[in-house]
Amino acid sequence: MWVELDPSFLTSLSLAGQRLILVAIHLAPSSKTKTKGQSPLFMHPITLIPGDGIGPEVASNVVRIIEASGVDVQWETHYAGAQALEKFGETLPQALLDSILRNKVALKGPITTPVGKGFTSVNVGLRKTLDLYANLRPVRALPNVPCRYPELDLVVVRENTESLYAGLEHVVVPGVVESLKIITEKASTRIARFAFEYSTLESRKKVTAIHKANIMKLSDGLFLECFRNVSKDYPDITADDKIVDNACMQLVMRPEQFDVMLLENLYGDIVSDLCAGLVGGLGLVPGANIGEKGAVFEAVHGSAPDIAGQGIANPTALLQSGILMLRHLGERAAADNIENSMFAVFTEGKVRTRDIGGTAKTAEFADAIIKKMNA
Ligand code: NAD
Repeated sequence: MWVELDPSFLTSLSLAGQRLILVAIHLAPSSKTKTKGQSPLFMHPITLIPGDGIGPEVASNVVRIIEASGVDVQWETHYAGAQALEKFGETLPQALLDSILRNKVALKGPITTPVGKGFTSVNVGLRKTLDLYANLRPVRALPNVPCRYPELDLVVVRENTESLYAGLEHVVVPGVVESLKIITEKASTRIARFAFEYSTLESRKKVTAIHKANIMKLSDGLFLECFRNVSKDYPDITADDKIVDNACMQLVMRPEQFDVMLLENLYGDIVSDLCAGLVGGLGLVPGANIGEKGAVFEAVHGSAPDIAGQGIANPTALLQSGILMLRHLGERAAADNIENSMFAVFTEGKVRTRDIGGTAKTAEFADAIIKKMNA
């Protein structure tokens, strides 16, 4: 059952003859701050991809927290990547894709991509196959987490389907390799539209396009031109742009000047990790991949093979992605309840995972949040 509850969550727009569905994920808590023991109104079938490495460790704890909030979820668990290759002979099984297309919502842990050889990225494959064209990464600091910018609150919007991620590489002659960067007017326009619509719904004031159009005059030039064209429809939102290298320096020195950042695929990947570093690391920041066919909520971090299997990973990034997912599903009260409890645990500062200076195990941190929710 796919439930559309709040028109502000799913807004259908007719723009220039093209139907654009924008899924707006509200970051701000609703006015109802805490609801305990609320009886669930709807059952939500959600595709769960635990992933590999630390994926199953963080996913199982996030599932525990979501279930403790009282939301009625029917999880459809699927494998992807190396696990799926071993079991089903393919990295992105059709049953998994069908499940997401049916449920329209998935929660996904990280999946390992072999470097320099082996199968192509499942994450990229999922985004391309389902045309999840918008990658949304809100970046906010959390209480008591050592970080450079405790006041930081910005959003990275990354184009998810093209640029150098098209994966079009070939050997021209031995010793010479060509990798093609694809930028289209269609994809650049729709991601710019997404950024401005999102900013409108979230009362954000400025969208900054990040590019290298001084060097890549055609490809990044087209991305920038589409951004500028779309910006004309949003006179109340400031539109500016920065060259990517300068933008990185500015982010490190004066990040407060950014509100919503719009980037093509590769720059978005790099800059969103940089932003995660500004607020305390990869274990904290959520992400959502959104398209007209559905939305996949996932942490920004990878499978962290260096700490996998030890039960020490920080589940906050996937938990925050789960909170975005609950708001997307209209379960705002449950999302607020989890978020408030998570903030309370951070504010107390007693139960913290190792990556942010504590000693707690993944499960202990989840237990602390559940305890707060039941308090
Ligand atoms: P990574 O994010 O896995 O790890 C980088 C560093 O951050 C490591 O030191 C790791 O221990 C730490 N870290 C990451 N998440 C953490 C968490 N939740 N709690 C505590 N510490 C955490 O990046 P990587 O090492 O470059 O990539 C490993 C694998 O993950 C690669 O195969 C890569 O392709 C894949 N990857 C997958 C996704 C995804 O599934 N969306 C995203 C990025 C990388």
